Amino acid sequence: MELSEIYQQNNYGGVKDFTPKISFEIFPPKNGNISDLFEELRILKKYNPALVSLTFGASGGLNRFSFEDIKSIRDLELNLMPHFTCVSMIKSEIENYIRSIENLGIENILALRGDIPEYLNTDDLDFIHASDLVDFIHTKSTLSIAVAGYPETHIESTNQKEDLKYLKQKVDYGASAIYTQMFFDNDKYYKYCEKVSEMGISIPIIPGIMPVRSLAQVDKMIGMARITFPEKFRQRLEKFPNDTKQIGIEFCIEQCQNLIDFGVKGLHIFTLNHSDQTSEILENIL
Ligand code: FAD
Repeated sequence: MELSEIYQQNNYGGVKDFTPKISFEIFPPKNGNISDLFEELRILKKYNPALVSLTFGASGGLNRFSFEDIKSIRDLELNLMPHFTCVSMIKSEIENYIRSIENLGIENILALRGDIPEYLNTDDLDFIHASDLVDFIHTKSTLSIAVAGYPETHIESTNQKEDLKYLKQKVDYGASAIYTQMFFDNDKYYKYCEKVSEMGISIPIIPGIMPVRSLAQVDKMIGMARITFPEKFRQRLEKFPNDTKQIGIEFCIEQCQNLIDFGVKGLHIFTLNHSDQTSEILENIL
């Protein structure tokens, strides 16, 4: 099912259904053992996800799902949205990739630039920005395209206005949904939605939700991006180091409940390949 279809409001016999559509993000297991991931996915399938997105390591290798893996995950009867990063890829490789996933019957893709490795000379790249990739995919395929958005502004941007100008470009080139970077302060997301709307962008902005497992994980994530981490939340995690998973669940339930009350069309959960926290969160909010 395509993005626009997923996020359109359902209307059953005149009764509107405002339940947000749930999607999950997974990544290729670092040890290459895909069967554990299948187990987690079988558990998560119970929550009827509208989409499962598959990350794509810009550096390649074990950080990418093979086509065989994608096919096996699709065979679990899950609607897939592979991510794709264009940095360090040439046009013909990109076209081959698009064809291959279309041949698997996949309808959606998350089009990204990826982080530019230091050794790369950007003058040599076929695509420098995600907008170039969106334009290319839109021209060459019928895939429904999602893009990334940054409620607290992408780390390379000097200001939000500039970042939003380029987000608008991705939408003008054919994006149908925006999936955000994780955030822990919902006000940042609400303000972002307001600013995005002022740009004349009306496609769904699906919040990215990260259930915290440990403080070390938090520090790693926020060290790489512009993300505000609430002091009170940090203090709790520091005070109860043996209960961080449970504290993460409780925070997430409250965060998601608040987003649902706001009226989000979806919740995109970065599962980190674990079903335990995600299941408990969903049991409490759906
Ligand atoms: P862009 O949209 O190109 O933006 C990158 C920066 O360039 C921004 O500062 C933007 O304002 C600026 N910019 C854009 N266009 C122009 C222009 N024309 N001129 C000047 N400046 C411009 N990374 C992975 O490697 N694999 C993944 O699977 C992955 N999944 C992700 C999923 C989500 C939901 C999110 C939010 C991010 C994900 N990322 C992933 C991270 C992403 O690749 C990085 O954040 C990357 O640095 C930027 O990618 P982008 O698609 O947002 O790039």
